[in-house]
Parts: sequence; C-alpha cells; structure tokens
Amino acid sequence: MTTPNPKTCPLCGEPNSCGMAAGEQACWCFAVTMDPDALARIPEAAKGKACVCQRCGVKAALPEAPKPEKQ
Ligand SMILES: [Zn+2]
Ligand SMILES: [Zn+2]
Repeated sequence: MTTPNPKTCPLCGEPNSCGMAAGEQACWCFAVTMDPDALARIPEAAKGKACVCQRCGVKAALPEAPKPEKQ
C-alpha cells in the first residue's frame, strides 16, 4: 500500500491545490460542498489525509449548474 500524497488528488492523481497540505489554516474545500460521490470514491487510506482536487470534488456542486426544479 502506498502512502497517499496529501498534495495529490486520490481520485485523478492531479495536484489538488489543498491549502492544508500547503501549510495553511484553510482550504478551498472548506468553502464548498463536496460531491458525495467523489467523497465515497476516496480510498480508505487517503481519507482525511489527501484532498481531492476541485475538478473531482466539486463537479456536482458547481454554482453555475442549473438544477431542474420540480414543477
Ligand atoms: Zn481529482
Ligand atoms: Zn483541502
């Protein structure tokens, strides 16, 4: 088993731009609603250690995405 890199997205392997991994107190991921699907796909070993990148974590929660309302 490999140690998850805290700066790399465990889902796609791209840099996740995580503020925590960069030594900051906050991260963009605190301000957004993570896609529960993406969270569920994070490997057990990487949970709580590595953030997903914005592309993977927020794809279902983009503010632009229009949500069809029930009529
Ligand atoms: Zn990713
Ligand atoms: Zn983060």
